[in-house]
Amino acid sequence: MTIYEQILAKIKQYDTIIIHGHVRPDGDCIGSQLGLREALRLNFPNKKVYAVGEMASYVKFLGEVDVIEDNVYDNALAICVDCGNSERLLDQRFKLAKEIIKIDHHIPVDNYGDIEWVCEEKPSCTQMIYEFLTNANLKLNKDAAICLYTGLVTDTGRFRFDSVTSETFICAAELLKYGVDIAKIDGYLSIESLDVIKFKGYVLSHFKLTKSGFAYIKVTKEIVEKYGISYEDAANQVNVISTIPGYPVWALIIEYPAEIRVRLRSRGPDVDKLANAYKGGGHAKASGCKLADWSELTKFVKEANKLVKEYKKAL
Ligand code: AMP
Repeated sequence: MTIYEQILAKIKQYDTIIIHGHVRPDGDCIGSQLGLREALRLNFPNKKVYAVGEMASYVKFLGEVDVIEDNVYDNALAICVDCGNSERLLDQRFKLAKEIIKIDHHIPVDNYGDIEWVCEEKPSCTQMIYEFLTNANLKLNKDAAICLYTGLVTDTGRFRFDSVTSETFICAAELLKYGVDIAKIDGYLSIESLDVIKFKGYVLSHFKLTKSGFAYIKVTKEIVEKYGISYEDAANQVNVISTIPGYPVWALIIEYPAEIRVRLRSRGPDVDKLANAYKGGGHAKASGCKLADWSELTKFVKEANKLVKEYKKAL
């Protein structure tokens, strides 16, 4: 049986299917959850299909997540999307489901699914959802296509990352046939408040550079509060410092009320191992991790600097 047949067989077997995503969901996570929910509802109108968790404000236009009671998990199938480690799944009730399917494109941290389909090389999880739906001969509609396309554009940095292949464009092209309005989606995704623009100015005037080529910006909670923006909007400015020649690794390190989160990016060395050393993970060129407190920043910066230094030496 192919992986598509295995997943389809499990979906057919269960009357209740609950789709989970990760903490602080992004466009790909929400696009995968809501796109799969829509497609499954379309193809299996008699099944109860839910997507749980929370919305990311910048993709609110895709719809809403469902709020369900614990007992809905009795005899349910959980499909967990876009998450490499079980600890990062937003609603830990996925463990209450009878069986779990993992569909993901991150470097695996742990194996939490009864069936696991992991393709690290895929640029977005929505591309995997699209591939599953087409290979399983399931129908799609405009709403599902909008969700899947949004995941595709957001996780590929608008089709710019090196994980993008001809398959990605074929996927986008096929989705457009359902009537996806790409200009409208781009409009939703590109809009920025005046406060966010001012915060970008803060990032541009306060980032630091290390000797060997690591650029970073430290954002305390006081700064987030001062600019009156959400933590999510502040964290999303990581790529403001992505284009500096000679600085192939960069990070935005932000203090949330309960944790210090590092958003780490690269167009040079792989950064996932560095993220692993700080309770994190992700992709080779885009990872995330955590600092125990601000005093750990100096060590982290030193290690990031060393990583770039070794990378440049090997060139
Ligand atoms: P982010 O900077 O949050 O966009 O994360 C970049 C990539 O790393 C995403 O694909 C995340 O899913 C992943 N990631 C972020 N934080 C963590 C973490 N603490 N543990 C594992 N993966 C993470």
